[in-house]
Amino acid sequence: MNRSEVAVMITDSVLDRAVRLPKRSYRLDSFSPNPAGHLTKTQNFAGRDIVSIRDFSKEEIDHILDMAEVMEPLARDGSDMLHGKIMATLFYEPSTRTRLSFESAMTRLGGAALGFAETKGTSVEKGENLADTVRVVENYADVLVVRHPLEGAARMAAEFSKTPVINAGSGAEEHPTQALLDLYTMRKELGKIDGLNIGLVGDLRYGRTVHSLAYALSLYKVNLFLIAPETLKMRKEVLEEVSKKIGVKETASFSQYLRELDVIYMTRIQKERFADLAEYEKVKGSYRLTAAELGKAKKSSIVMHPLPRLDEVDADVDATAHAKYFQQVGHGVVLRMALLALVLGTL
Ligand code: ASP
Ligand code: ASP
Repeated sequence: MNRSEVAVMITDSVLDRAVRLPKRSYRLDSFSPNPAGHLTKTQNFAGRDIVSIRDFSKEEIDHILDMAEVMEPLARDGSDMLHGKIMATLFYEPSTRTRLSFESAMTRLGGAALGFAETKGTSVEKGENLADTVRVVENYADVLVVRHPLEGAARMAAEFSKTPVINAGSGAEEHPTQALLDLYTMRKELGKIDGLNIGLVGDLRYGRTVHSLAYALSLYKVNLFLIAPETLKMRKEVLEEVSKKIGVKETASFSQYLRELDVIYMTRIQKERFADLAEYEKVKGSYRLTAAELGKAKKSSIVMHPLPRLDEVDADVDATAHAKYFQQVGHGVVLRMALLALVLGTL
C-alpha cells in the first residue's frame, strides 16, 4: 500500500467513526416533562458569571434547579449540547470532587476540558498574577472555573475575564455551585425545600459551603439551626443577612436539636484555614454523628455533607437510609451540567 492509499484508509476510518458516533442533537422540545414550565421564560444566563450565590434571585435559582432536572437523562445517555465548547479549570487549591464533577459535566455534554490543579495553593498570591492568568486562559476556553484560597479572587477573575467565570470556591468565603447542588439534593431527596428544618453543623466560620448555602436557604421558607462550637459560629455578616429573612437558631448543642431536623448538613472542621493549629486542636472532633445517634432523629431526615469527611460522620451512618452524601455528589454533576449549558447560552 502506498502512502496516499494509507492516507485514504485512515481518513475513511476517521470519517466512518465520526459518522457512527452517537449524536444526540439537543432540542428543547425533546425534553418532557418540562419540570416547571420555566423553559419558555427568558432567563438570561448566557455569558453570566457565577461568583456569589447572592447574585441570584430565588426565581433564577429555581430555574437552575429545574434545568438540572432536565439534565438527568443527558447525564445518563450523553449529549452533544456543548460540542465544540471548552472549559478551563484554574484550581489554585486542592479539589477532588469539584474539579472532577465540572470535568465530568462538560464531557457528558460533549464539550472539552483543560486546565490545572495546582496543589501548592498559595504560589499565586498577588492579584495581578491571577488577573494575568485569567486574561491568558480566556483565549483558550469559553468558560473558566476558578478555585482560589483568597476571598474575592473569583470576583476579581470575573472582572478581568471576558468569558464567564464560575467560582468553584473562594477561600473561606463562598462555594456557590455547592450550595446549588445542596438545594437540588434537598429537592430530589425530600421533594421540597420550603417547610424544612435544616441544621448546618460543624465549622460555620471557615466552611465556605455553609456560607453560600445559608444565603441561598434564606430565599426559601425554612428554619435554620446553626450548630457550631463557640469559636466556629456562623460568620457575622452571613448571620445578619440571613436572620433578617428566616428563622435562625444558633446553638452549640447538636443532640438537643437533632430530633427536629429534616436535613442534617454536616461539615468538616477546616483545619487548613486556622491561623493557629492549637485552636484547631481544641475544636476538632466537636461533633460526631453515628448510626446510633441517628436513632433519635426523624425517620425521614437526611444526612448531607459536602465532603471530604473526616470523623464527623461515622462510617456506620453510610448504611442507613439517612445517608445522602454520595447521592449529593451525583446531583452535583447534573447541576453543573445545567450551569455550564446556561452560561454558555445553550439552555
Ligand atoms: N477539598 C474538597 C475535595 O477534595 C474540595 C472540593 O472538591 O470541593 O473534594
Ligand atoms: N469540599 C468542600 C469545599 O471545598 C468542603 C470541604 O472541603 O470541607 O469547601
